[in-house]
Amino acid sequence: MLILDGLPDRPINGKTPLTVAKKPNLDKIAEISVNGIMDTIAPGIRPGSDTSHLALLGYDPYKFYTGRGPIEALGVGIELKPGDVAFRANFATVVGDGSIFDKVVVDRRAGRISETEELVKALNEISLPVEFEVAKATGHRAAVVFRGLFTDFATDTDPKVVGEKVRRCKSNRAEVAEIINEFMQKAHETLEKHWVNEQRAKNGLKKANAILLRGAGVMKEVPSFKDRFGLRLKVISATALIKGVGKLVGGEVFTPHGATGNKDTNLESKISSAVKALDSSDVVLLHLKAFDELGHDRDFNGKVRFIEKLDPHLENLLDLDLSNVCLIVTSDHSTPVKVGDHTADPVVVSITHEDVRRDEVTRFDEFSATKGGLCRIRGMDVLNIALDLLNISKKFGA
Ligand code: ZN
Ligand code: ZN
Repeated sequence: MLILDGLPDRPINGKTPLTVAKKPNLDKIAEISVNGIMDTIAPGIRPGSDTSHLALLGYDPYKFYTGRGPIEALGVGIELKPGDVAFRANFATVVGDGSIFDKVVVDRRAGRISETEELVKALNEISLPVEFEVAKATGHRAAVVFRGLFTDFATDTDPKVVGEKVRRCKSNRAEVAEIINEFMQKAHETLEKHWVNEQRAKNGLKKANAILLRGAGVMKEVPSFKDRFGLRLKVISATALIKGVGKLVGGEVFTPHGATGNKDTNLESKISSAVKALDSSDVVLLHLKAFDELGHDRDFNGKVRFIEKLDPHLENLLDLDLSNVCLIVTSDHSTPVKVGDHTADPVVVSITHEDVRRDEVTRFDEFSATKGGLCRIRGMDVLNIALDLLNISKKFGA
């Protein structure tokens, strides 16, 4: 399953990046496929990349989505158990007197600090009434997990706006909020006097003297992909959020050499590792993030160029033995350049296998796909369709 994150678009003067780009291999895939359009969640619902990937793997996101915190935490390598409360976190700079909750945020990225290893180490040595773990993510980001706190909700301590005070965490369980607020205060004290920050101050850099929490979620009981489908899943991605979805459903996750999650990614490395992964896995999800980034950046030509850069590499997928393999090419959502964010416009989906009922579609784009034999499906249908084509589905009924 090749996921071209955020590739589909809305037309500008009747054209989308997919209708403009020269992409003989992508069009060849459409030609040998059954094609259609797909609502990854449901018509009119704007999908996140996490909820839509859950759906594409056959998991109802309304049932299994944990919120972003746990998925990011899994994606940066923290193991989670049901009941653990996970947050996304930022190192930040605060100023003022009193406790952490009296202080004002002056930089939510602490001068774009990226060497946070020593600070993370120091935070993990704080003593709290519960077990917890802090892990480094990219740049100024981190993930923080509090073990076994079972709560319905926990609010952000990140005010998300510069010039405002750090917020107190609130929760339906007062003792949970108390523990998280104790962490906030102790983290501030630890960071304020840490040698890394003393050195930063000496060099005229902003201190990373607070850690702000947002996007809390509670880890749930999620049946593994292996248990549900009897199949081994491998997710190939450089993006923590997508790796987190893979981990959430108990899949193996892998970031190939040179994969960056952006347009400078090593396409050769990503596609060849996906082909190789078919030897040891049953379902391989290969995620390419760049189109979504280019959509958020409102870069129409950038999308066209990246389609044309990707296309020659797809020859490796056309060489697959389609008597044995089912190839799905699709997206998790549209990221139209005019909007600069995800929309609910359905995505293009092409499914090919030796026995597939091909249709008359010969181009991979938003308009041609509407004429295909799949018509309009949901994200949760796509895996079932593939398993049926491969004759590894179970019959419903007698
Ligand atoms: Zn996405
Ligand atoms: Zn996006």
